[in-house]
Amino acid sequence: MRRRLEQFMLGRYGTDDFSKFLLALCLVLLVLNMFTRVQLLYLLALVLLVYCYFRMLSRNISARAAENQRYLDGTANMRRTLRGWKNRVVQSKDYHVYKCPSCGQKIRIPRGKGRICITCPKCRTEFEKRS
Ligand SMILES: [Zn+2]
Repeated sequence: MRRRLEQFMLGRYGTDDFSKFLLALCLVLLVLNMFTRVQLLYLLALVLLVYCYFRMLSRNISARAAENQRYLDGTANMRRTLRGWKNRVVQSKDYHVYKCPSCGQKIRIPRGKGRICITCPKCRTEFEKRS
């Protein structure tokens, strides 16, 4: 079975970031449809799903790769922002982030070191905070 699937997918495009985004959007539309009962959302989700399968099974790899690249280029800023938020949440367990009172520079301080004197690396202002 696995071998037959591999044989079938040979020379086909498969999944990429754009496909994953389309599938996630499809799922969101289906959930929205469950709560709102707007049939247009269901239809849109179905169209997205068909388009997604068309892309995955397509043999025109260069065209699909170009679509994916356009998607990646168009969403680069948004994905960078989301990654920044995620990093901040992950780091908030181990670090405090303070702003310098005079220049506004963000300074990352490890947690649990008690009351410490912080020297801003940008303007050399000193201030005290609990870490
Ligand atoms: Zn400063």
